[in-house]
Amino acid sequence: MQKERQKLIITQETDEDVVLNISLRPEKLFEFVGQKETVENLKVSLQAAQERKEPLEHILFSGPPGLGKTSLAHIIAHEMNSKITATSGPAIERAGDLIGILTNLENGDILFIDEIHRLSKTVEEFLYPAMESFQIDFVIDKGPYAKTIKFNLKPFTLVGATTRSGLLAAPLRNRFGIFHHLDFYLPEELSKIVKNSAKILNLPIDDTASNEISRRARGTPRIVNRLLRRVRDYAQVKEPNKTITLDIVDKALNSLGIDQAGLDEVDRKVLRTIIDVYEGGPVGVESLAATLNEEIDTIVDTIEPFLLKSGYLKRTSRGREATRLAYKHFNLTPKKQSQKELF
Ligand code: ADP
Repeated sequence: MQKERQKLIITQETDEDVVLNISLRPEKLFEFVGQKETVENLKVSLQAAQERKEPLEHILFSGPPGLGKTSLAHIIAHEMNSKITATSGPAIERAGDLIGILTNLENGDILFIDEIHRLSKTVEEFLYPAMESFQIDFVIDKGPYAKTIKFNLKPFTLVGATTRSGLLAAPLRNRFGIFHHLDFYLPEELSKIVKNSAKILNLPIDDTASNEISRRARGTPRIVNRLLRRVRDYAQVKEPNKTITLDIVDKALNSLGIDQAGLDEVDRKVLRTIIDVYEGGPVGVESLAATLNEEIDTIVDTIEPFLLKSGYLKRTSRGREATRLAYKHFNLTPKKQSQKELF
């Protein structure tokens, strides 16, 4: 999903970014900023499992991309002193792919499946007995000679991550003992992340500058780190050997097309299409995707959650509508009566 979005946005991630992303990833729970309730509850779950010398229950993290689901899976492995095997829903094409992974897991290992809602039905069903009783059934031979063999697995913890828990089949969802939804971060939390990352990158930055990056980062740690790296590039070329100031951040972000509200070109394109082509909506996501020449999943998973959360977009049973705030953002006034009555 992230890849699809990357083809669109100017603030693309380079190979160096991918490496830096890993180095900026928090390793321990105390380094993980924000998401207080989730962190507190995880602490209790981790301690309880450690005291009982049992593997943790299976955990499901949901929420928009870049909010820390993968980071938490790695942190859990670190805190439990266990090995983590990471894969993703689309990467496991057949049940056979999963047999190899599952049979290689050791006692207490973590199996992380990103985008778990994209597992195929057959793979998903194969996972049920593995999650429930640490057993898998596999069939050898075909036709009348077919035999089902039960294989015992070592107790492991499945950590699933999804941008859309609604797409998860109920039997799969119900097999997770622990469920946490991650929400967008507050600017002050993101500011803390910027400061930590700047320290790791050896980048002098003042408070107003880190606050500005945080304010314009769509409530998302991955974006805040990406913007910091783009600001670093800008400063290195245009204002070398200087502490990063508000002025530098503003110029750098403006040059990347990140506006004062933190919306990027794609966000603005989505909103302008709803306003200009669909008179403010409502418009179904399929039509919107077709007009934008964009994947539906990219709109639903990556673009619209922040627009909905920050009040630029409204989701109704008839489709997406641009709100008054969206019109105001472009200095426009809603034309339709229904639009005026939106709020
Ligand atoms: P997701 O799996 O939800 O898409 P990631 O865990 O990959 O998100 O997070 C993306 C990046 O954002 C990480 O590499 C890390 O640098 C940063 N990050 C995410 N959450 C936090 C956090 N709570 N504190 C500090 N950094 C974070």
